[in-house]
Amino acid sequence: MSLAIQVLGRPGRDNALLVTVNSGQAMHRLLFDCGDGCLDELPFADVQGIDHLFFSHLHMDHVAGFDTFFRCNYNRTARENHIWGPTRTAAILHHRFQGYLWNLVAGQQASWQVHDLTADRIDTTRFELAEAFAQPQAVGGRERSAAILTGVDYSVEAYLMNHGTPSVAYVVRESPRINIDTARLAQLGLRPGPWLQRIRGPAADPDETITVDGTARKVRALQDHLRTVAPREAVAYLTDFLLDERASEQLGEVLRGVATVVCECQYREADRELAQRNYHMTSTQTAMLARRAGVGRLVLFHLSDRYRPLEWREMLREAQAIFPAACFPEHWSFAET
Ligand SMILES: [Zn+2]
Ligand SMILES: [Zn+2]
Repeated sequence: MSLAIQVLGRPGRDNALLVTVNSGQAMHRLLFDCGDGCLDELPFADVQGIDHLFFSHLHMDHVAGFDTFFRCNYNRTARENHIWGPTRTAAILHHRFQGYLWNLVAGQQASWQVHDLTADRIDTTRFELAEAFAQPQAVGGRERSAAILTGVDYSVEAYLMNHGTPSVAYVVRESPRINIDTARLAQLGLRPGPWLQRIRGPAADPDETITVDGTARKVRALQDHLRTVAPREAVAYLTDFLLDERASEQLGEVLRGVATVVCECQYREADRELAQRNYHMTSTQTAMLARRAGVGRLVLFHLSDRYRPLEWREMLREAQAIFPAACFPEHWSFAET
């Protein structure tokens, strides 16, 4: 199992994040935002392989590359089509869907589900290619907890932050994996076999028994003794919101132990007032959050083009002074101009 990240787009331009979950049996591709030109770096087949598109919010610099995504996938039936974002995502995407002429689509089966997230609900709207995306169909809503998506291999959590408008922070976590401690198994003198499936499975009632090597044994006792839970990796995607004390406290808890945090770095600390006015973060605030949560590494992206490359380097140094494991995406390089 692994979680890999790829920051898309260049420094000072629109950015996005691709997270690839590789379970060994399956690959899942999750795209976070879709700014101008961001998908140009990906092979067509990889764009076709994106399972979910998550928008933080629908400001132009996060959605301008949507046409490239939709060009690749508008008629996709090989997998389900899901798009997520804050309130009004379905309404705004409805306009995007209708921004083209569709006259040869009768009978085509592609269907799109757009999920609007509020603090405690998910409201889903379906759009059909065969209808030229004309009629949004409300397919219902449900209450939600932090996790909006829970699969066999991974889950995605969503947190509504304040950008003057709701902006969604996302966390992708590997699903818990239960392993069997083979040393303890050997100590008990038990041979591995299909019975271990039950030991890995749901927690047993105290009286449930299983026959192992001809002897009845208590399942719960074996589970308590033999099971180990592998550490779960996680990646967070944070962009475009005000990091006030309340947000910092909330995310400090949510991000505890997260291996990789990809976070906006719009403003230098000297411009904190401006950052606050625009509901953004500074390099120092971002690094303080990473330190507070004790994350593994902090990848800074979404740099403002108001600064020159020399100042971007200064921003990185500001962040590293507080949180040494801060970096820019590996492939970014910028010459002084
Ligand atoms: Zn924004
Ligand atoms: Zn932005």
